[in-house]
Amino acid sequence: MEGTICMPSRYGRPIIMSRQMHARRLEGIDKNIWVEFTQLAADYQAVNLGQGFPDFAPPKFLQEAFCKAVSGGGLMHQYTRAFGHPSLVTILAQLFGRLVGHEIQPLEDVLVTIGAYQALFCTFQALVDEGDEVIIIEPFFDCYQPMVKMAGGKQVYMPLRPRGGSNLSSGDWVLCAEELASKFTAKTKAIVINTPNNPTGKVYKTEELQVIADLCIKHDVVCISDEVYEWLTYDGAKHVKIASLAGMWERTVTIGSAGKTFSATGLKVGWAIGPSRLIKHLKTVHQNSIYHCPTAAQVAVAEGFQTEYDRLGHPESYFQQLPTLFTHKRNKLAACLEIAGLRPTLPEGGYFMIADISSVSFDSDDSISQDEPLDYRFVKWLIKKKGLAAIPVSAFYSPEHGKEVQNYVRFCFTKEDSTLNAAEDIMKKWASEK
Ligand code: PMP
Ligand code: GLN
Repeated sequence: MEGTICMPSRYGRPIIMSRQMHARRLEGIDKNIWVEFTQLAADYQAVNLGQGFPDFAPPKFLQEAFCKAVSGGGLMHQYTRAFGHPSLVTILAQLFGRLVGHEIQPLEDVLVTIGAYQALFCTFQALVDEGDEVIIIEPFFDCYQPMVKMAGGKQVYMPLRPRGGSNLSSGDWVLCAEELASKFTAKTKAIVINTPNNPTGKVYKTEELQVIADLCIKHDVVCISDEVYEWLTYDGAKHVKIASLAGMWERTVTIGSAGKTFSATGLKVGWAIGPSRLIKHLKTVHQNSIYHCPTAAQVAVAEGFQTEYDRLGHPESYFQQLPTLFTHKRNKLAACLEIAGLRPTLPEGGYFMIADISSVSFDSDDSISQDEPLDYRFVKWLIKKKGLAAIPVSAFYSPEHGKEVQNYVRFCFTKEDSTLNAAEDIMKKWASEK
């Protein structure tokens, strides 16, 4: 019987455990793309353009703020306010109030979390009830799907579709307004958007956000806006917060990440910002699960934001400098992928670039299951045979729609130039062998 474990007992008789151990809410979500592919990349010591993290150090001012916090006395190592250290919620309210154009109450409208992951988890647990429908725009950051499921909600998928033509920019991935409207029903509780998008790099324009906002208002639906890459836009693309559109502050939970903001993904400090009528329910989940987040990390992030707040829009701002640095890395990676015949879609924002693999051939051997989608097989082959790690794009789709994007894989370009050079060497060698 599946799940049966026989253990020898002290008295010689085996104890049979045959009851199901896992809760049903875990069914179908036990596989995780990051666990699988990060391990595979490590096993093969591949050049890692898979998992999204910078392989260079965070800025000095943040490292110094962290050291200062850690050595700042005993209280830096004790519990702090459950919903966020006062210094962090204060600066988040100040900065985001300025960006959203709405006064934000630090103690009411902000919740500090363990990374954006926990902000998302609290949001779904707090707002999605059994049977509620949640619209998820594909491609989506993979954790939305299991989190909606764990909350008892039903995922309703709405694909972004590539416009015809050469399709070289993430801006060519668009929503059909009529199709989106058709997804809203009396059961729709929330819609999740992610701008700049992981994995395409799409940065939603105001007109696109307005279509979503109008539908949210019409159907009294909550918008969960994942904006972890908000400071990273390229070629003049502008990040717009949906919460800043008329009538949207009241119904939007905006999610952010210090890991992405300060190139320090190991910090795991994130937040959810929105009206207290929504955030108070996230706080209920938080106080009964995590209670509070590491104090010193919060103090360091608060200081990092204070430094940036005082120089916002100035050339010395990290938020100005990073997109310039990443534009160079993005272009470098695009050129590198083209060497081997992959066709990259140039992202307008974020950490990632998707590339069309349909014009390259590869022989996936017996070590790679032929039952897997093409993009999974390609990435496994790339890791095992070429020593380069990426992520299959169908992982960012529902099982129903994943088949339509099997020709795409995702690469991360927020890496040291030496890492990108190593990827380029692999591509050149591969091209020369063709
Ligand atoms: N949302 C998106 C779109 C992401 O790419 C990630 C991965 N960093 C997260 C949320 C989770 O962020 P964090 O590392 O702050 O938990
Ligand atoms: N957000 C990162 C990515 O998309 C990594 C997430 C993770 O490793 N769990 O690559």
